Amino acid sequence: MLLELKDLTLLYGRIQALHGISLTVGEGEIVALIGANGAGKSTTMRAISGLRAVAQGSILFDGEDITKLRADLRVVRGVSQSPEGRGVFPGMSVRENLEMGAYTRRNRAEIDEDLDRVFTLFPRLKEREKQAGGTMSGGEQQMLAVGRALMSRPKLLLLDEPSMGLAPMLIQQIFDIIVEINQQGTTVLLVEQNAQQALSRAHRAYVLETGRIVKEGTGQELLHDPAVKDAYLGVA
Ligand code: ATP
Repeated sequence: MLLELKDLTLLYGRIQALHGISLTVGEGEIVALIGANGAGKSTTMRAISGLRAVAQGSILFDGEDITKLRADLRVVRGVSQSPEGRGVFPGMSVRENLEMGAYTRRNRAEIDEDLDRVFTLFPRLKEREKQAGGTMSGGEQQMLAVGRALMSRPKLLLLDEPSMGLAPMLIQQIFDIIVEINQQGTTVLLVEQNAQQALSRAHRAYVLETGRIVKEGTGQELLHDPAVKDAYLGVA
């Protein structure tokens, strides 16, 4: 297993957001986390990337216990997050934003290779290389956030709502790109409101409800599960 969460609990003050989350992500997989607003999807991602400390439980990554490791050192180990709400640096150019994603790296030739790869995946970013991040459209900023996360050459890419706020055509496109990134060798853990797309692209998925995992299966199993259809796919 590349990633293994064991019985994670997490508190925001007196509010318990996670009540014992256990899940695994195997090397080469796309795994989706779906669930209603407030279920704890983003919180689970923050626990993995180290943006929020857990109260109990453990996080194993690539054979190592990273539960208490600093967030920046997790990036060095190969965990990279594209956060919900994008978080691009508005005053920096597209290229500078991408370079920031590689700040832990020193090998210039490899960084340039990865810049080329991101520009190939997202031609729009190449066209807008010198434009300020903050003046890009919502969809373009979303692409920039994913591209920036790729610039650390992660083993595990954490994507929090990559389709949020995108027009239907761009939603298709961003999911196509996620599959392509995965096929190029990056393992992906994906949080999505768009359960239909996420389940149809993911190898496996987990359903979260109020900080607990209530169901797991292959993407296809969950896509055809009556309770999942009813609650998350908008069809009875
Ligand atoms: P959404 O899809 O709406 O973003 P989510 O599944 O990602 O939902 P989380 O953002 O992980 O949900 O939130 C889980 C719970 O923790 C919610 O009840 C939320 O109100 C609470 N929560 C999240 N962040 C904080 C915070 N910084 N302080 C206090 N409570 C928080």
